[in-house]
Amino acid sequence: MEQPLRDLDPPSRILLGPGPSNVHPRVSRALTAPVVGYLDPAWFSVMDETVALLRQVYQTTNRVTFPISGTGTAGMEALLFNLIEPGDQVVVAVNGYFGDRIHQIALRAGAEVFPLRAPWGEPISPGRVRIALREHPQVRLVALVHAETSTGVLQPLEEIAEIVHQHGALLLVDCVTSLGGVPVACDAWGIDAAYSCTQKALSCPPGLSPVTISERAWERVSRRKSAAQSWYLDLKLLVDYWLGNRTYHHTPPAAMVYALREGLRLVLEEGIDQRVARHRQLAEALWAGLEALGLPCLATPPNRLPTLTTVLVPEHLDEARVRATLRDRFNLEIGGGLGPLRGKAWRIGLMGAGATPANLLLLLSALETTLAAEGYPLQPGAAVAAAARVLG
Ligand SMILES: *Cc1c(COP(=O)(O)O)cnc(C)c1O
Repeated sequence: MEQPLRDLDPPSRILLGPGPSNVHPRVSRALTAPVVGYLDPAWFSVMDETVALLRQVYQTTNRVTFPISGTGTAGMEALLFNLIEPGDQVVVAVNGYFGDRIHQIALRAGAEVFPLRAPWGEPISPGRVRIALREHPQVRLVALVHAETSTGVLQPLEEIAEIVHQHGALLLVDCVTSLGGVPVACDAWGIDAAYSCTQKALSCPPGLSPVTISERAWERVSRRKSAAQSWYLDLKLLVDYWLGNRTYHHTPPAAMVYALREGLRLVLEEGIDQRVARHRQLAEALWAGLEALGLPCLATPPNRLPTLTTVLVPEHLDEARVRATLRDRFNLEIGGGLGPLRGKAWRIGLMGAGATPANLLLLLSALETTLAAEGYPLQPGAAVAAAARVLG
C-alpha cells in the first residue's frame, strides 16, 4: 500500500536574507486565532484596530490606510493601477530591481513613463527629479523605492517630496524594506502613497501589503474617469469594505490580518525610535564585521540601508556554494544577488524579530568558518570581535 504523505516539517531556519524574515512567536500564535466571518462585529473590531495601528506605524493620519490582500507586489499594483490613468505621464526612479518592477507595472497601467535611471548602488538625487519635472511639465506622479532591497540603498525622500509637490504631482513610495526598521514618516515627509509588506521588517509571514494614501492622492483616485483595470485591486471597492459601509468585496485573509495586527503591536510596544535604533546598531555591527573580513558593500553611507546590506563577493569565491554551506551546515539563510548582481553579491537582511545580536554573531562566525574552508584569507575571530565591539 502507498505510504501516506509524511507530516509537514519545514526546518526552522534563521532567515537573514532579503525576506521573508523570521516570524515573531507572538505573530505565529496570532495566526492560529479562530477565523470569524467577514461581517462579524468581532471581525470589524479587528479591522479597525489594525487600521489604527497601521496609521501609527506609517506615522500618518491618512484615512485611507489598510492592508491589501497579497504580497508587496499586490500593494505596488493596487497603488499604480488606481493612481495612474491611461495616458498619464509618470516619472519612475529605476536604480534597482524593484524600481524596474514599478516601471513595468506603470507601463501596464497605461502610463507614459519617464524612467530616471541611476547606477545600481546609488540613490536618485533631488536635482535630477527637479530636472525631470521641468522637462516633463505634465507629469502627475513620481514613484521611487525608499529601501531598494536589490542594492541596499536607502533613498532620501524629504527634499524630493518638496520638489514633487511644488510641481503639483504626487509622490508614491515603496516602503517594503523600510517600514518597521527604518523611519517612515509619511505625513512629515509628504509621502502621498506608500505600500509595504508583512514579511520584511514587520516579522509576519508574507501575505499582506499595507498601504496608505493621502487625501490629495485619494482625490485623484476618486475622480478617475475610467475604472481601475483590476477589479480585485480596485481601491474604491476595497475602501468601501475596509473603511466604509463594509460591503462585501472579497473574503479578507483573517489569519493574516491577525498576524499583521500582532506584528504592528510589537512595533509600537518596542517603540518606533527604539526599533529603528536596534536595526541601525545591528547594521553597524554587521558592517564592521564585513570590513574586518575585507568584504565591501555596494552602497556607501549615508545611503546604506540598515535593514538590508548588499555585499560584493570576491570573484574567486563561489558565492552560491557559500550560501548553501550557511544553509545546510549552520541553518542560516542569506540571499544572492538579483539582476546584474546575480552570482556577484550576497544580500544580508537584519529585519524585525530576526534582527538580534545572537543571530548576527552566529552569522559572522559561520561566515568566517565557511570562508576559511573556501581558502579565503582571514584572521579567525576578527569579524565577530569587530561586530561585538560595536554592540558593546
Ligand atoms: C520584497 C519587495 C517587494 C515585493 O514584495 P513581494 O512580497 O515579494 O511581492 C517590493 N519592493 C521591495 C523593495 C521589496 O524588497
